[in-house]
Amino acid sequence: MKFPGLLGNDKLQARLRAQKRERGLSHAYLLAGPLGSGKHTLAQLLIAAFLCTNKEEVPCGTCQDCRKVWLHIHPDVKWVKTPSVGEVRGLRKDAYIRPNEGLRKLYVIEGMQKVNLAAQNALLKVLEEGPEYAVFLLLAEDEDGVLETVRSRCETLRLAPVSQEVGEAYLRRRFPDVPPETIAREAGACEGYLGRAVWRLEAAAQAAEPAGARADAFLACLYENNTMGLLKSAVELEGLSREEWSAFLQAAGDRLHKTLREAVHKKDAQFETAQILLYLDIIRVLKAQGEANVGLGHCAGLLHVLCAEVMERGET
Ligand SMILES: [Zn+2]
Repeated sequence: MKFPGLLGNDKLQARLRAQKRERGLSHAYLLAGPLGSGKHTLAQLLIAAFLCTNKEEVPCGTCQDCRKVWLHIHPDVKWVKTPSVGEVRGLRKDAYIRPNEGLRKLYVIEGMQKVNLAAQNALLKVLEEGPEYAVFLLLAEDEDGVLETVRSRCETLRLAPVSQEVGEAYLRRRFPDVPPETIAREAGACEGYLGRAVWRLEAAAQAAEPAGARADAFLACLYENNTMGLLKSAVELEGLSREEWSAFLQAAGDRLHKTLREAVHKKDAQFETAQILLYLDIIRVLKAQGEANVGLGHCAGLLHVLCAEVMERGET
């Protein structure tokens, strides 16, 4: 099992990897950690790991099931936010209807710490003796808000803050144009819960230059070998207008050129020049196709090719 996009949390990753190998993943997890700690990313990875049909390693990030999971369109995955007791009863009933496509059916409950006692109690039975194909992922910002009886029926996965060093390095790669002192400040202020820093910096970048922000997000996934993120990015890009698309390509090209210059001049550069040249080549092809009025759907298809190339290079 692999965890593209989940930073730090090495022990947790190792534990899940061993569990998957030795006895298979559990049917109920409580994902606990404050806002921005990576609960949603981990939930998505777990769901994809349950549903991915790749024989080698899961989640592969490219099969139909992974795609559907990442786009939130898989019919066997249901997300609910702080459900009422009535909604929990509905969910319980739904759990006894067999999965549509996959072998498993997954329920994600967000904001579990705010679910009232009656609704939490209504969940107990299905957690304990639900159908064998059903999986429950409960997300809580504060574990203390979750009943002991619920907790004892789940395996708890605690998301840990990432170190200042790991956080800062990631934010630098993710937001190359943001001054280092701002990066350091945000890395410190988020206390290791990187999602918070990413949201703040992303909002600022989006407001200042949407195409640049898109390019930064896309390239960060590329550099991190984050196939799941690339997939999401590629699908979002499919929805752009022609002007937005060419602004995105321009911004991505500019950034790659800058990285290339750095790679040539610095011995300890983060990226290999051959790699950057390959990316630049793809951007060039995409630009040429855009000018030749090739449909944007096809261009986004090329981005998928890029995802596949990244995959082959090996994952984090
Ligand atoms: Zn897959």
